[in-house]
Amino acid sequence: MKNVILLAPPAAGKGTLAKTLCEKYGYVSISTGDLLRERALEDKELRDFMKTGKLVSDELVFDVLKAKLNKLGNTPYILDGFPRTVNQAVMYDELLQNMNKDLGVVIYLDVDKEELKNRVTSRIICPNCKTTYSTREEKFFPKNAGMCDNCNVE
Ligand SMILES: [Zn+2]
Repeated sequence: MKNVILLAPPAAGKGTLAKTLCEKYGYVSISTGDLLRERALEDKELRDFMKTGKLVSDELVFDVLKAKLNKLGNTPYILDGFPRTVNQAVMYDELLQNMNKDLGVVIYLDVDKEELKNRVTSRIICPNCKTTYSTREEKFFPKNAGMCDNCNVE
């Protein structure tokens, strides 16, 4: 299976698509934000830096990404919302060449701007597991109003 880079504006359905690809096809979803937060758990200096709200350097982002890709071996993965800049894209290309990996496919979810605006303003997110729900679209309502289906947190 090909690795996937998933790009989309907020509320385009990126998380839902990534979840489907993982459940149906055994992909592993990689978020560099999550990787950095994981690293920060065991790295006090990074933890303190991230608390300042400043952007972490590309070098560090790639350091954690490379470690993750090495760990995955040949398991197909989805890069969720990464690369974010041209510089990161160039660096990612170099990383792939060094690791002898193919780029795979890039999926861009192109959703109408008005529709995105409606989704963003009606979106609610579980503070615990980050599952998203809608206050507007019935099929995305939580089963019990105000409670997360997944972890039962308010
Ligand atoms: Zn939850």
